[in-house]
Amino acid sequence: MAENGVKSEPEQSPARSSQSKKKRREDFRFGPTLGEGSYSTVVLACEIATGKEFAIKILQKRHIIKEKKVPQVEREKKVLSRLDHPFFVQLYFTFQDTEQLYFGLSVARKGELREKIKQLGKFDLECARFYSAQIVSALEHLHSLNIVHRDLKPENILFNDKLQIQITDFGTAKELPQDDSGDSPRTSSFVGTAQYVSPELLKDKEICTASDLWALGCIIYQMLVGNYPFKAPNEYLTFQQILACKYEFPEEFDREAKDIIEQLLQLEPLERLGSKTRGGYQALKSHKFFTGIEWDKLLTQDPPKQMMQHSQDSSDEDNDEVNEVIDNFEHASFIDDFKKQISEVDKKRKGSHEELVQSDPDDITGYGLPLNLTKHDREKWLNKQQTSQWDYFAKGKLILKRGQLEKKRGFSIKLREFLLVEGPKLIYIDPNTMEEKGEIPWSQDLRAEPKSFRIFFIHTPNRTYHLMDKSNNAIKWCKKIEQIKKFYFSS
Ligand code: ATP
Repeated sequence: MAENGVKSEPEQSPARSSQSKKKRREDFRFGPTLGEGSYSTVVLACEIATGKEFAIKILQKRHIIKEKKVPQVEREKKVLSRLDHPFFVQLYFTFQDTEQLYFGLSVARKGELREKIKQLGKFDLECARFYSAQIVSALEHLHSLNIVHRDLKPENILFNDKLQIQITDFGTAKELPQDDSGDSPRTSSFVGTAQYVSPELLKDKEICTASDLWALGCIIYQMLVGNYPFKAPNEYLTFQQILACKYEFPEEFDREAKDIIEQLLQLEPLERLGSKTRGGYQALKSHKFFTGIEWDKLLTQDPPKQMMQHSQDSSDEDNDEVNEVIDNFEHASFIDDFKKQISEVDKKRKGSHEELVQSDPDDITGYGLPLNLTKHDREKWLNKQQTSQWDYFAKGKLILKRGQLEKKRGFSIKLREFLLVEGPKLIYIDPNTMEEKGEIPWSQDLRAEPKSFRIFFIHTPNRTYHLMDKSNNAIKWCKKIEQIKKFYFSS
């Protein structure tokens, strides 16, 4: 990272025990945005007095009240302050001003587990075993407090600089009564995410600590296979698969991995490995899949080779380069100076951005597929694409880049899956209903304009489209669009 004077980390004890004086916004120097949630922006910040670095989650009070999310925010604060374990994001302090609420969290800047799986395709056995063990260790702590996460998924598992997991997002967590066994299902409203939701919640609207063990089974599968165990073109069909526990393993799948997944993906919560009736965490940790794991050394051990190697990758360097430039700016000046910074980053890069091309159309951190593929490579990608739920919309053409963007029109903001297809074609789909919603018409007058790391505009002669990429890759979309325009429209 750049010399920005924000290097030291807070000690590992949360500020809830040592918070002597309420902090204020003025106590911090704000840096780049680390992430955007539906209700918050998470910004890197340095405490001026101590030089300590925090991820500050900022929530707009007005928005929270309007969206009726006050109980969720209170729950998140309450649950986070009960947790004291290295594999969870730590809450060090909270404060507020008239407009906003601030949560001071430990920094987890190495991205989400979901991104890592996407970027690597899948994890090798050593890597999957190591991170499964960290998740198990975290869940053991969580469940010992009778707390159910209820939305455990790779998006909510972040990595810190040491490449250790940091589980986050406790807005939908449920605290069970202390005298509850934790294993007995309790009525719950629907929360969670389709691919990881447990059958008991779908069937009886009930939840228990073993519901997180179901999600763990899905995550271990996803790490090793690179895809969800339960996946269908829409939520309804995904739920049907979950209720029937219908999923398949690829051929030659590791025997022990298969066994632990099967023992976690049990329709009946009490039959899941790790639930109290199945020997609790002792039995789960003793499963053969975890052979070689030293449970008391998980925190001090080096991360697996695959992950170490990946984090040194060019894509990470690429992001660091951008961060280096923006680190020196206050958050407020960030957007104004955006274009200047980008051109500085570009100047620093050697060669054309074709060199930075990632070989995957849905690699959210990359530039998608290159345009000048050989016939053989094109066929290969077309074949691979056939297993994707988006293939149908490409109508036999190759998807060059895709990803979720928010499309703003007037006061309405809609989440859409954008597919940039050979031709060129730029279409967008409602990811919930899987309906094609529209197309941005190409012409040589189409122009992409970055506005910040998240926001960009696509100008066409008749309309300007306002788009937001929550994973901060607006510039990569713009570059890809310009690249395609040059390829198809310049004579
Ligand atoms: P949602 O309800 O949409 O999940 P939210 O408003 O509760 O979102 P979070 O999910 O907590 O917000 O955070 C939004 C994003 O910010 C995350 O996806 C992650 O990329 C980033 N983020 C959150 N916490 C941290 C952290 N401690 N360190 C670094 N980045 C973080």
